Amino acid sequence: MPGQRPASADQAALLSALLEHDLLIETGVPGVYGRGGVFEDVREGVAALVTRAAAAEEPLQLRFPPILPRSDLERVGYLKSFPHLAGSVFAFNGTEAQATEQQERASRHEDWSEFQEMTDLVLTPAACYPVYPAIAARGALAPAGLTVDAGGAYVFRHEPSGDPARLQMFHQREIVRIGEPHLVEAWRDAWRERALELLGRLGLHVKLDLASDPFFGRSGRMLMASQREQQLKFEVLTQIAGPELTAVASFNYHQDHFASAYGIKLADGATAHTACLGFGLERITIALFRTHGFDTVAWPAEVRQRLWDR
Ligand code: ZN
Repeated sequence: MPGQRPASADQAALLSALLEHDLLIETGVPGVYGRGGVFEDVREGVAALVTRAAAAEEPLQLRFPPILPRSDLERVGYLKSFPHLAGSVFAFNGTEAQATEQQERASRHEDWSEFQEMTDLVLTPAACYPVYPAIAARGALAPAGLTVDAGGAYVFRHEPSGDPARLQMFHQREIVRIGEPHLVEAWRDAWRERALELLGRLGLHVKLDLASDPFFGRSGRMLMASQREQQLKFEVLTQIAGPELTAVASFNYHQDHFASAYGIKLADGATAHTACLGFGLERITIALFRTHGFDTVAWPAEVRQRLWDR
């Protein structure tokens, strides 16, 4: 498969075990899996844990489908930063003769892309992206700003891999803070600690580290360096199928990047700052199976209780 990252022996073994136990279901495409019932129980348990941890902030609840207007992807500069990860939706808009030719090529699994035209839609690359235009449309923020719970939407990243911890489509449990810079930074700092505790109490060995996004190309390397220098991104890391640790949650301070793109204003008319946190639900779920075994009935009682309140 072009562009596919090779999997290590440990990653391949973990993937086989997850498939064998009916936790992930093969589709034939690397990084795209169905989920079995037990896997979903754990994933939903982790999502609910985040919901409870955020409840005291009384966040505004917003949910969006895993698809985004193409103009939003264009407006925030995603194609400059991550052209290699984007997924765009194309559709047929041709004649009957072209439809016939397209079907003939498709039946032979040949290239039928010349019959496809760009639509107004792309796949959502991060669960917080639809939040910014929605909040901008509501007018200036209240003085304390706003916290938005964006739920646990499916997001897409085109990075086919044999590592079960690197999926092309996965759930990102995101919460977004919008407001004055010092409030947004304090919120990000508080959640870094909360996330370490939350995941640590599930029996995962976690550590916090400074991080950067996988920006594309030569200018991307400069963006990565500057992101680190300004300490804008942190990740919680844990061992999944290694050899290196894998990020299971991230804390991103965007400064005024999204607020400037959409004109999100503070009560005094200044441009807001934003930060988001995202828990990678499948990664956390897989880390739990790797740590506690494939039979959830045999998991430590305190882990079961935290996940399912039982
Ligand atoms: Zn985000």
